[in-house]
Amino acid sequence: MHDLKTATDRLDDLTRELLDALFDSTDEPAASAAPDAKTTAEIDEMRVKAEQSDLTAPIINLFSRLKQLKSDMNISPEALGLFKSDLTLLAEKHRMIDEHEVTAGGRLQRALPIVSDAGERIRDYLKRKDQEAPSGIEIQEELRENARRIKRALRMTDDQWNSYQGQIGNCIDTIETLSKIISLPAGVIAEIGRVTQNYRMRLTPYYASLIRPGRTNDPVLLQSVPTAEMVDNVGVEIPPVAADHSPARLIDQFYPRVVTIKVTNMCAMYCTHCLRIAHIGKKDRIYKDDAYEEALSYIRGNPLIRDVLITGGDAFVLPNKIIKKLLESLDEIEHLKMKRLGTRIPVTSPMRVDNELLDILQASNEKKPVRVVTQINTAQEITPVSADAFKRISGRVAAVLNQAVLLKGINDSRVKMWKLCETIQENYVRPYYIFNCSYRNPQFSHFRVPVEVGRDIVESMYGNISGDAIPRYIATAGGKIPLHRSNVQGRDNGDIILKKPWNDETVKYPDADPEQYANQRFSFARE
Ligand SMILES: *Cc1c(COP(=O)(O)O)cnc(C)c1O
Ligand code: SF4
Repeated sequence: MHDLKTATDRLDDLTRELLDALFDSTDEPAASAAPDAKTTAEIDEMRVKAEQSDLTAPIINLFSRLKQLKSDMNISPEALGLFKSDLTLLAEKHRMIDEHEVTAGGRLQRALPIVSDAGERIRDYLKRKDQEAPSGIEIQEELRENARRIKRALRMTDDQWNSYQGQIGNCIDTIETLSKIISLPAGVIAEIGRVTQNYRMRLTPYYASLIRPGRTNDPVLLQSVPTAEMVDNVGVEIPPVAADHSPARLIDQFYPRVVTIKVTNMCAMYCTHCLRIAHIGKKDRIYKDDAYEEALSYIRGNPLIRDVLITGGDAFVLPNKIIKKLLESLDEIEHLKMKRLGTRIPVTSPMRVDNELLDILQASNEKKPVRVVTQINTAQEITPVSADAFKRISGRVAAVLNQAVLLKGINDSRVKMWKLCETIQENYVRPYYIFNCSYRNPQFSHFRVPVEVGRDIVESMYGNISGDAIPRYIATAGGKIPLHRSNVQGRDNGDIILKKPWNDETVKYPDADPEQYANQRFSFARE
């Protein structure tokens, strides 16, 4: 045992405070209540453990229980045979065992309450997340039953279901087929008929199986089946980005060093909120080699360009051999350092992700980094099948990133967005961007969410979910512009006042000294 004087001298303020609370440091201590035999035996046992073990937990457990007996029942440690000297020695023992010399008082009075308060902040989320925003993995039985029903209705074989050709060959692109697989009121069917005269609808049977029947606000249904709002929200359509941002065939360019090549106008499924709707157009088109060649030669001729986004439409719609050729051509360009492929296919038709494609991605990644950028808007879109596709892709490329679109009724709540970000992170996909739904297309105005609402959602993630699961919140307006709220509240002389986004507490953060910063020399350079 340590000697009592040293132990007493070493007590920190928090442990002293804890002992004072246990031993009533007032002049006239209140008489202690008498403990029953069971409590006395319990404390005796805890004390033996605390004194004999080489661990910190038995000491903390003893202090914690004593604190509780004191505050709830006014039973003092003395009444249980423990004196201030005993506890002082145990506190010192705790400090000596702990690698970081954390004291019993620090742990019990400060750290544990902070952790417990933090736990409160996510309690509501934990209670609601699986009900309000179930992942496709959590409801896989229900989705599998949907798949069986749709397969029967479309008379698809298992082989057709499990192949990309079969998915596209049996896609749902008319109201007649749609009515076979989901029951919607007659009025709604008529409206969809009206909308699809102007906008195309195409669901893969797989994606349709993610729709939960009987829910008119199902987030997968809303993303894939156009509603009357699309034609009713008439307004002035702003010309597509390409109109003033396309310096060469298939190329869009906002930035000096990053360009996109729109390699196809096709997608496996057409989203009801598609930012690229103007480019997608009304029917599938196959581009000529000439078009790709002109795009590539623009990149070859521009030594500033270091990052290329192969997008569409959906890059994975292209046959493997075209993807291979494009990547190989790009890898040969010396100034080009990295590639991205934009695709939603792992979500809309994961069966497309075959081993040949994975080998192509890996071979290119070994030359220069390949990142796959996808779009997942709800946890419901992560099923065992899409999760497996993402896992397989992530093993072959530098990163798989998600760009979600913030959409009313689909993912515009804390619970839904936190759940999305956590679910994709658990499945090898990193949240990258959350886009505020674009103003350019009046046909989507019913999906738009005010920026302040989006800020609340994104800001609420800080301190509550892993930092690398928090995406950047972006407005697209001739480039991607961050919409985050500032947590810098102001200045107080040399300090910056910062707000913690998770509890609104403000802290003073001493800034670097500008004078010291202006002095360019480190000691190595002193004369
Ligand atoms: C989205 C986009 C990019 C890439 O932007 P990052 O912020 O690098 O992800 C580049 N060019 C165009 C035209 C784009 O639309
Ligand atoms: S996958 Fe992308 S490009 Fe294709 S329809 Fe959806 S949002 Fe538009």
